[in-house]
Amino acid sequence: MYLGRIVEQGTVDEVLRSPQHPYTRALLSAVPSPHLDAQPEFIRLPGETPSPARPPGGCHFHPRCRQAIAACSARYPETTSVSTTHSVRCHLYG
Ligand code: SF4
Repeated sequence: MYLGRIVEQGTVDEVLRSPQHPYTRALLSAVPSPHLDAQPEFIRLPGETPSPARPPGGCHFHPRCRQAIAACSARYPETTSVSTTHSVRCHLYG
């Protein structure tokens, strides 16, 4: 979830092993790995978390997303299925 909205859904395995949403990837990059050689690159998000009461327009994550494209500030993304049990709200899919 980001600012109170679900941005990715799936089984535990799908979300933890194959995160699709840029915010999910950033969150998981902060989880320490017991295997030093398997630690993913830490993704530092710029800026501060906006107020959920006044979220940014378009995709609420766009001011902090390093993969943002023009559509991201224009409209909120629809849900796109990655598999029958895995879905994501991001303009990079669909
Ligand atoms: S919709 Fe755009 S800003 Fe939002 S997570 Fe996807 S790429 Fe980033």
